[in-house]
Amino acid sequence: MIPPGEMIGILGGGQLGRMIALAAANLGYRCHVYAPEADSIAADVCAAFTQGEYDDEPALAAFAAQCAVVTYEFENVAATPLAAVTAHAPLHPPARALEVAQDRVNEKSFVEALGGRPAPWAKVDSMEDLRAAVASIGAPGILKTRRDGYDGKGQWRIVQASDAEAVELPGKPLIYEGFVTFDAEFSVILVRTEAGEVRFWDSAENVHKGGILDRSTVPASPVILAQVEEARALAAKVADALGYVGVLTLEFFATADGPVFNEMAPRVHNSGHWTIEGALTSQFENHVRAICGLPLGSTALAAKGVVMDNLIGDDAHDWPAILSDPANHLHLYGKAAVRPGRKMGHVTRLVL
Ligand code: AMP
Repeated sequence: MIPPGEMIGILGGGQLGRMIALAAANLGYRCHVYAPEADSIAADVCAAFTQGEYDDEPALAAFAAQCAVVTYEFENVAATPLAAVTAHAPLHPPARALEVAQDRVNEKSFVEALGGRPAPWAKVDSMEDLRAAVASIGAPGILKTRRDGYDGKGQWRIVQASDAEAVELPGKPLIYEGFVTFDAEFSVILVRTEAGEVRFWDSAENVHKGGILDRSTVPASPVILAQVEEARALAAKVADALGYVGVLTLEFFATADGPVFNEMAPRVHNSGHWTIEGALTSQFENHVRAICGLPLGSTALAAKGVVMDNLIGDDAHDWPAILSDPANHLHLYGKAAVRPGRKMGHVTRLVL
């Protein structure tokens, strides 16, 4: 057990790290952020900050030596240099979770081996591969980078087979996925302790706009609720297979044939931000509790329902209007520059 007062290391300097640090502070911990950028919005609320690259092993080792435990809020950290961290402090979730989740081919293969069902997919490393993938899986489909993709970045829609010819391959490993006809999208967010105790939050129904999460609603619609049990069983198998400690997210499409796995994130997730006010214990607090070996808090709902809206780009300028409604819980991440498509904050409303 790592008692309150100790230092928690966080790899990654964005809003997820910021909200982990705020939850950790409430429990009496101090946080140390490690991130490559000079102006980290997570470091703004932390006791210490190291600016360093994710593959700088001496810097990672020096950082970890000052921490009682290290976690990450960003999954595109290379797994190999993390040995420099684990030599000095426990790393939760394990590096293996990063290796699986940061590559769409590894992720889909891993989940398939546990009985999960992703969209039909094929590896694409050349134009020949792409033609073969489109011929066997069919169109429409989506070509995605295997690594470093997030919020719909690094994706190309193939509406009809001939579109493949127009794609300029980016010279990175890719994956082609058949387009899934879904009724709705949802996520399963769980927290797992080192001893293997698992708790789930209610599944949010997620609506994306332009590949970016726009709104999460709890409770989800009946079509989703009918599929949550199967999706949770898969998520628990993934967590157990990885010896996972902390918060884990799996995203699903609810289809006429049941839940289709989309992707996983070995971390707290945007579709769980509603838990700050909408659950008895937030995803951030239970993540801290799990990685520090504290008892978990209840994941039960704190309201009849919850709606979380992301503030993307210019939406953040609406804060005066948002605050004029006393029922709104406003969260701004403190990012200096507003850019189109950038997550600037979110607003949560409870249905009491
Ligand atoms: P991703 O970054 O892979 O989660 O993609 C972002 C969003 O694009 C998803 O939440 C879906 O709304 C949509 N999307 C991604 N892959 C597929 C697919 N194979 N079929 C249908 N929609 C998809």
